Amino acid sequence: MNRGPGQTRLFTPGPVEIPARVLRALSRPPPHHRTEEFRATLLRVTEAMRELHATRGEVFLLPASGTGAMEAAVANLMSPARSALAIAGGKFGDRWAALLEAWGVPHRTLEVEWGRSVDPAAVERALEGAAIDTVFATHSETSTGALHDIESIARLTRSRGVRLVVDAITSLGVHPLAQDDWGVDVVVCGSQKGLMIPPGLASVSLAPWAASEIDETGLPRFYFDLRKARRSLPSGETAFTPPVSLVLALEESLAMIREEGLSNVHHRHARLSAALQAAAATLGFETFAAHPSHAVTALTPPPGIEAGAVVKRLRVSHGIVIAGGQDRLKGVILRAGHMGAYDLADIELLAGALEECVHALTAGAAPAGSDAAPASGGAARAARSAWEAA
Ligand SMILES: *Cc1c(COP(=O)(O)O)cnc(C)c1O
Repeated sequence: MNRGPGQTRLFTPGPVEIPARVLRALSRPPPHHRTEEFRATLLRVTEAMRELHATRGEVFLLPASGTGAMEAAVANLMSPARSALAIAGGKFGDRWAALLEAWGVPHRTLEVEWGRSVDPAAVERALEGAAIDTVFATHSETSTGALHDIESIARLTRSRGVRLVVDAITSLGVHPLAQDDWGVDVVVCGSQKGLMIPPGLASVSLAPWAASEIDETGLPRFYFDLRKARRSLPSGETAFTPPVSLVLALEESLAMIREEGLSNVHHRHARLSAALQAAAATLGFETFAAHPSHAVTALTPPPGIEAGAVVKRLRVSHGIVIAGGQDRLKGVILRAGHMGAYDLADIELLAGALEECVHALTAGAAPAGSDAAPASGGAARAARSAWEAA
């Protein structure tokens, strides 16, 4: 993607850069939401979201960031009489546990070493003998760059009649996630990641067999009451004023995904991930996650280089914004997001900038103020060959 001179480039794990087509949709005068025009749009967008969520069930759009959809899942499915298992392993897995705690839902947390993906056998052990009726999991753990094996976890929950709720906020539009075919009851997503639009729109999908799961619970609901959303949707309405411009933007980004082809979109993200990992490896970085997500690449810097110094130099000297680590990974890793409309040229740009940073930050390098050692371009070349091979 291209931005004008002086504008920073975002390689953050959300929000991501907004494609020009989507920016144009955002600049359209928003139609009133109680009009035939908008009703038709909402129905079309919901239909396209059902395709992306890979469900023949229902999808509800909510005005919220991704966490709002997570909260809606908890409030609409759970009660103090139920019991849940939250699979942790990062900041967002922990968020499930924090939400269950806040809503007073009895739960256990399955701890996973940060950077690892949960072992399905550990999930199986946690379910054995315990009265757990709902498992909360994260598909792509954005804080560590780890991808979790949702298909295997779903096999376990389905065979036991346990419900599975998946945070797919950085995996929809990045990795395959076959909600109905895998047997995932509920999937939540947010707009500012793989969906390539600004923050503020979230989605919750219910598999066809999970439709009645929201009918009665013991928790209070009002704004995020999915029963209200269900009553309004057939006529193209929402219970409350929807974020109209974001819905227009989503229609455009979903059209981009459809035009490229979803499996091509998935493949492109695999290539982006491989390209960045290869480029970083030539510079002495290590990939942090054992099973890397294609949405975000978490890297530990080479010895003698601080993660925070790389993040800062990329921003100040190159106008490139990436993220550092969060919580216990602060100062340990750096994270570059590449979800959405990124391509090889973007990774080559990032690789070249990383190469310059490593030269400049390596002990014994030229003193501050003098020109940094000229980069050889090896990292960008490594990115290109990994992209071509992937
Ligand atoms: C971004 C993100 C969220 C939601 O964060 P918001 O700030 O509420 O949008 C949840 N889970 C994952 C895995 C995320 O990457």
